[in-house]
Amino acid sequence: MLLSARLFFHGTRSFSLCSQFRRMHISEMVPKDLSALSSSEMRQFLNSFDTVLCDCDGVIWNLSQPIKGVNESLEKLKKCGKTIHYVSNNNAVGTKGLLRSLKKFDSDVTNDDLIIPTQAIIAYLKRIQFDKEIFLLGSIYMKEDFENAGFCLANTEYEKMVDSFEAVRELLEDNENIGAVICDYDIYLSNIKLSRSTTFLRRPEVLFITGATDRKLHIDTKIVLPGPHFYQSSLMEVTGRTPLEFGKPSKNLQKYVTTKYNIQDPSRVLFVGDSIMQDVKFGSSCGYQTLLVFTGISTMSDMKSCQSENLIPNYYLNSFGDLCTVVRQKLDL
Ligand SMILES: [Mg+2]
Repeated sequence: MLLSARLFFHGTRSFSLCSQFRRMHISEMVPKDLSALSSSEMRQFLNSFDTVLCDCDGVIWNLSQPIKGVNESLEKLKKCGKTIHYVSNNNAVGTKGLLRSLKKFDSDVTNDDLIIPTQAIIAYLKRIQFDKEIFLLGSIYMKEDFENAGFCLANTEYEKMVDSFEAVRELLEDNENIGAVICDYDIYLSNIKLSRSTTFLRRPEVLFITGATDRKLHIDTKIVLPGPHFYQSSLMEVTGRTPLEFGKPSKNLQKYVTTKYNIQDPSRVLFVGDSIMQDVKFGSSCGYQTLLVFTGISTMSDMKSCQSENLIPNYYLNSFGDLCTVVRQKLDL
């Protein structure tokens, strides 16, 4: 995983003073180990937020394997009076699929408690009264979400064999009905799909939208797949276009979450995630408190090497599943 760009310091005196201040500022931002808090610090921590926004993959489960103790931790937070919602970048299993998985951990969860980038994209397209076809690079479940919301999707599959440049030319004919290219994780991604996307994106009025922008997808501790970031980047480079981003940590998703949950005081929100680049950056950009757990993408060593203030979490814990035990040990709750 690529962490933040390092801060570089230059030679002028004023810049140097400014940099020293910044360095001091960042060095003061030391994440706190939740398991090492005293009882009074733990009480203070629990009293400091009302809402928990929780990522799913790498926090609640890994692929379909549950993370031990998560059910109890969610229950404990509810008993302490916290409201829990879920904010995931995972469009691939669709809203229904994610909700079905969450029900196994949180029986009270409803559709309204879950946000994925698909919902923010749909809300945006409805707001601008988008009525053209969408060329969607994504999973069948993501496509289902768009169709259920009333959008018309163009066929992205192309089954003919391409055996000459003449055939390629035919393949790359524009389709004026298409008004948006949406790029998320597509396990059947092909050069043909990318090439057709570049054709449509050549028209400046065609919207270029991204969902999840993850660089890597962790199937388990050993299997890591390239994430959608890489083919989104290739589209950007070839077309010279900058996409409208809707996944964590984008501004569009920040606004969507804040509005949907009517968040008045962001400092009273705790964001729990396993990715520094997606979750900590998203949470701190929103002004939330952040808790990083090490059961997914980011490691303790990634956290220690962070040099940018919005990538440093306020708290860390080995696993979200440990929260229940830690609270019980410190506060006897
Ligand atoms: Mg995650």
